[in-house]
Amino acid sequence: MHASVSVEVFSALEPLVPGEAVVAERFLHPRRGPVATPAAALLAADLRNRGVNARSSTLAGGTLPGGPQGSAVVHAVTYLARDASAVGFAVAVDHRDTDVSATVREVVGAWTGVLRTRRLLLAAVEPACGGTQRALGMAARERGRMPRLLGPLSANPFTMAELHAQGAIAVEDLDDVPPSATVMFPAHGVPLAVQAEAAALGLSVVDATCPLVSEVQQEIRELAGRGSTVLLVGRADHAVSAALLDQAPSATVLVQTLDEADRVEVDDSKRVAVVVAPGIPLAEATPVVAALRSRFGWIVPQHPATYCYAASDRYASVVSMATCSEVVLVAGAPDCADARQVAGWVRTCGRPAHIVNALHDVRPEHIAGASIVGTCAATSAPPGLIDQLTHVLSGLGPLATVGRTARTDLVGTAVTTVAPRP
Ligand code: SF4
Repeated sequence: MHASVSVEVFSALEPLVPGEAVVAERFLHPRRGPVATPAAALLAADLRNRGVNARSSTLAGGTLPGGPQGSAVVHAVTYLARDASAVGFAVAVDHRDTDVSATVREVVGAWTGVLRTRRLLLAAVEPACGGTQRALGMAARERGRMPRLLGPLSANPFTMAELHAQGAIAVEDLDDVPPSATVMFPAHGVPLAVQAEAAALGLSVVDATCPLVSEVQQEIRELAGRGSTVLLVGRADHAVSAALLDQAPSATVLVQTLDEADRVEVDDSKRVAVVVAPGIPLAEATPVVAALRSRFGWIVPQHPATYCYAASDRYASVVSMATCSEVVLVAGAPDCADARQVAGWVRTCGRPAHIVNALHDVRPEHIAGASIVGTCAATSAPPGLIDQLTHVLSGLGPLATVGRTARTDLVGTAVTTVAPRP
């Protein structure tokens, strides 16, 4: 690719007003002909970030030094794609505009410096698990009499905004649900007391509790009913925990860390069971389970047929992608806990992670020197951002996009009645 890179300055008859720069949506190269410019949005955003009034437009063309001279200077970079078509970017600025010219030179130089042949490695896994998607589908089917949504659906904020626009209203508790309204329980379930209160109030309920969550709830009740203390390996801040702890409150203890596994007290060390909260990657839970098993030799383990692998598969997909990448762009909002968690997984693989919420967050230094750029979507990723990233990177050198997914399927069990996976 580098052999075909051409960095040139043309003169052009482009009408420009002082203070502005025109980023080419496509342009006609005097020798190479029509040039595709997929990375134009990155340069336009970079110029705007630096205070330049950048607009996008088609540049009619330009002349190389020695040809007819116009009032605009076009900074153009081109290379030849695999099919010999021309790809690149170009920015025009009025030749008298020295300040903007200097910024344009800087920006064009910065993005020229990251041109290279590369792979975009995509962790091709949906941030919303099957249970959340099932809940969203149930809410959408209530079209016309949108339910009150009790608790977080753990869905993309843009999807939630659509639901709200259709009439769905998020509520914190049942006091906020009018008697005539329908209330929907989220995929991660609600405590038994909430179910009982909804029934006592005579509310119409859409129960979107994930079948796997229901199974684990039932398992906790059964284990506690047989006299065991149930050690629930999970996280206090996870939406599923409250409804699981509530199944047998006096017999269930949340264990979040190895330290807590070392310190947790039980009434009878010979009657202990361990259950992993669904929604927690097994890679996180397994060391805590192992510590509990080594402490309590008589521990009753959860039947592995009731494990949820959604979070584990997502974790494995991200880690696998990150391990093979030189840098990872996490699509999502910087204040989103999920985006920060995914970025944390990437960093534990020893790779830099940058959370990008829009194209203007992508900086040339993020991908400088990287031949393999990883990417994945957090729950807050704006719709289409991964596709936009793929598009703009295809304008910074020949690009192949490859996906990587880890998927666990339950293919056999001695248990004959396993609830269908969502
Ligand atoms: S149990 Fe798994 S699939 Fe079901 S809602 Fe929780 S994370 Fe999603």
